[in-house]
Amino acid sequence: MKITEHLKSAKKTLFSIEILPPLKGKSIQSIYDSIDPLMEFKPAFVDVTYHREEYIYKKREGGYLEKVSIRKRPGTVGICAAIMNKYDVEAVPHIICGGFTREETENALIDLQFLGIDNVLALRGDSIKTESQFVPEPGGHHYAIDLVKQIKGMNNGVYLDDEMKDATPTNFCMGIAGYPEKHFEAPNLYSDMKWLKAKVDAGADYIVTQMFFDNKKFFYFVETCRQNDIHVPIIPGLKILTSKSQLIALPKIFHIDLPQDLFVELEKCKDDKAIKEVGVEWCVAQSKELKKADVSCLHYYTMGTSDVTRRVAKEVF
Ligand code: FAD
Repeated sequence: MKITEHLKSAKKTLFSIEILPPLKGKSIQSIYDSIDPLMEFKPAFVDVTYHREEYIYKKREGGYLEKVSIRKRPGTVGICAAIMNKYDVEAVPHIICGGFTREETENALIDLQFLGIDNVLALRGDSIKTESQFVPEPGGHHYAIDLVKQIKGMNNGVYLDDEMKDATPTNFCMGIAGYPEKHFEAPNLYSDMKWLKAKVDAGADYIVTQMFFDNKKFFYFVETCRQNDIHVPIIPGLKILTSKSQLIALPKIFHIDLPQDLFVELEKCKDDKAIKEVGVEWCVAQSKELKKADVSCLHYYTMGTSDVTRRVAKEVF
């Protein structure tokens, strides 16, 4: 079932989660262990992130350094198929532009359709650590909108080979990313909004937001979207703080602010246990306010921390 159909038919705010594939070499059991405790809240869907290759330098005999490509967290598509099979719940693989040619993207999408996966989150992806800005693969997409257009084309039976006759149309429901605090590369919210609208006009069906800790920013974002003729569902993404290191890491990695009231509370915490308590309390309050405002779904970035997600879900759903 398409995510948009879930959202449409829901009589109350839905619960959904995002998980990361395990590190290479780890068993899929770690994924089941993180999902099992959350199944009682009936997630409408489970997003699975995609992690592209990274380059590291390995020291070789004689002291020279060899540049080696590694993928630390492969398995996105396999995990989605396994989740759908085991739990009978929608799994949404994240599909990114980075590292893919158009043809590789087309083939990956064909695999998804054969597996019965017809929901995807279409993203550009970030630059790899060794590059200062995003560089597309030769023959790959530069922006998420180009990926959205390719998927929309396939939904209309248009594949890359223009001589292909009677190609079976795919049936993807497409989510895209939105940024209540704007994407860090965008010069301003207006510009970011313009490209967000372009992605929706190109065929995206719904938006999932970057994490935020201040609901006012989300409400303003939704209002601005509506004023800019963006009328697809907007799903808020929420993260529960669990460690002191996140006070620096989250703003740095995700380009988001921690509200001053929250920061003051976090600074008083002596250890990660105390941070977790504040994190859960803050997220419960955020969730309840969003639920009261009738958001269609609350989406939690679990990042392997199902214990705190469970605590929040117990209070909210
Ligand atoms: P785009 O929509 O392409 O936007 C990128 C920037 O370019 C923005 O500043 C935008 O304003 C601008 N822009 C867009 N189109 C144009 C255009 N045509 N011309 C000029 N400027 C333009 N990353 C991963 O690698 N794997 C994941 O699994 C993953 N999951 C995510 C899930 C969510 C919900 C979110 C919010 C992000 C996720 N990311 C993931 C991170 C994401 O890939 C990065 O934030 C990336 O930098 C931007 O992706 P995007 O799809 O928003 O890009």
